[in-house]
Amino acid sequence: MLSQWLDEAPLIPDDEAPQLKGDIRADVCIVGGGYCGLWTALSLKEREPSLDIAIIEKGRCGDGASGRNGGFVLSWWRSIGSLKNFCASDEAFRLAAASADCVNDMARFCTDNAIDCDYRQDGWLWAATNQAQDGAWSAAMETLAKQQIHPFEQWTRDQVAARTGSDKHISGVFEPSAATVQPALLARGLRRIALAQGIRIFENSPMRRLKRTRPPCVVTAHGTITADKVVIAMNAWSTALPELRRSILVISSDIVATKPFAERLISSGWADGMAISDSHTLVNYYRTTRDGRVVFGAGGGFLSYANRVREKFDGATPRAAEVAGYFHQTYPAFRDVAIASHWTGPIDRSLSGLPFFGHLDGRGDILYGLGFSGNGVGPTMLGGKTLASLVLETRDQWSECGLVRDSASQFPPEPMRYFGGTMVLAAKRRVKTLDDQGQKPGMLTGAIASLAPAGFTKVKG
Ligand SMILES: Cc1cc2nc3c(=O)[nH]c(=O)nc-3n(C[C@H](O)[C@H](O)[C@H](O)COP(=O)(O)OP(=O)(O)OC[C@H]3O[C@@H](n4cnc5c(N)ncnc54)[C@H](O)[C@@H]3O)c2cc1C
Repeated sequence: MLSQWLDEAPLIPDDEAPQLKGDIRADVCIVGGGYCGLWTALSLKEREPSLDIAIIEKGRCGDGASGRNGGFVLSWWRSIGSLKNFCASDEAFRLAAASADCVNDMARFCTDNAIDCDYRQDGWLWAATNQAQDGAWSAAMETLAKQQIHPFEQWTRDQVAARTGSDKHISGVFEPSAATVQPALLARGLRRIALAQGIRIFENSPMRRLKRTRPPCVVTAHGTITADKVVIAMNAWSTALPELRRSILVISSDIVATKPFAERLISSGWADGMAISDSHTLVNYYRTTRDGRVVFGAGGGFLSYANRVREKFDGATPRAAEVAGYFHQTYPAFRDVAIASHWTGPIDRSLSGLPFFGHLDGRGDILYGLGFSGNGVGPTMLGGKTLASLVLETRDQWSECGLVRDSASQFPPEPMRYFGGTMVLAAKRRVKTLDDQGQKPGMLTGAIASLAPAGFTKVKG
């Protein structure tokens, strides 16, 4: 099982998206059938209906992170600080606003195309579960307020406890327009619409090699696709390409899902589809499902030597007990609720925490987009528009946006990345435990933990 979400998503007949057999030609070949690849294909079709587009996917569309994630559909308002470090100020606000638009556009797209994926726009709570986290949002809120932008509502301690169903939440700010989704149903839905629009999809067809010929050629076990443009939308698996190997850190995020217990959830006060994250750098994130389960995830899991996505990133998570422990700590009243399933998946963490788009080796005919860093459900829609503009070579707000750059910041080489990264993660985990106990980390632990790149949220101080 890759995730409970995928198990719930309808099976796809093989003949709809066969294996690639033989040598074919396409205008555009997209490698990777997750949200990023699918949104890119859909955006291209919308803008150039005559384009012949082929997607190749190593498994089934959605089998990657897109069918396994927490289903939080968030904007970049909370990342305004990172955006401002990365792009010019106006551009940072424009991109954050565009990411917020994606949350609404996606709702509309699902309705218009009858994609039934439990899209619930019940908001997102950015919460603190201990004193060290309190006010983690202040810097972002102040930056936004200077521009008269107020996407978050400050909630009182009582409000936070009442709405989350747990008094472990001591403060928080609420973004009403955020949403949750059943992520695999969204991925399968996008796949259905792509097929209906004449986009060819080849599944169970991993790219074995990318021939840097002109035009480039994607090689699989039983066939090839030669295309004028190739788009790499392989998320963490992109590290198979030497040019991208050090541009991201592959790190697991791990999820447990409970059995349904809808009535108790409703009487606890957590009665709707509100998504919640705490403000640990190794974030805990949790939401309910339509059938009354809690899906609880924890970021900052394990790394992999040489930054490759190995088998340990698929299936049941080795962190199930740790993640269930965070759930019980946050919701002591639900300790008796059985965990029904758990799984893991890879995150493509960039140094900035933001995605990046560009030309592989500076070539105009091979594009890439990755680095969504654990926040890709909403932003991949924006990524699709950006990659479509790069493919079409149109000069517009997407192709010229601040996230397009041909060289991303690099993580250190091996063995420093793996051993150093493992040490920093251990220190971060220790800080997480100490923060929860109201204790301060020692100088050495604090110093090692501070070497981590900007986290999911910036904790006060
Ligand atoms: C456990 C977990 C929880 C998360 N929670 C959230 C969340 O709540 N909210 C949020 O916004 N984001 C979340 N994310 C991140 C989010 O899921 C991703 O950012 C998003 O799905 C990225 O989409 P993608 O298309 O780039 O990647 P993917 O969906 O991973 O797509 C890449 C595809 O490429 C395919 N592929 C790989 N190698 C090859 C090859 N050689 N040939 C052909 N195909 C290949 C893969 O099989 C895969 O389907 C989470 C991620 C994980 C793992």
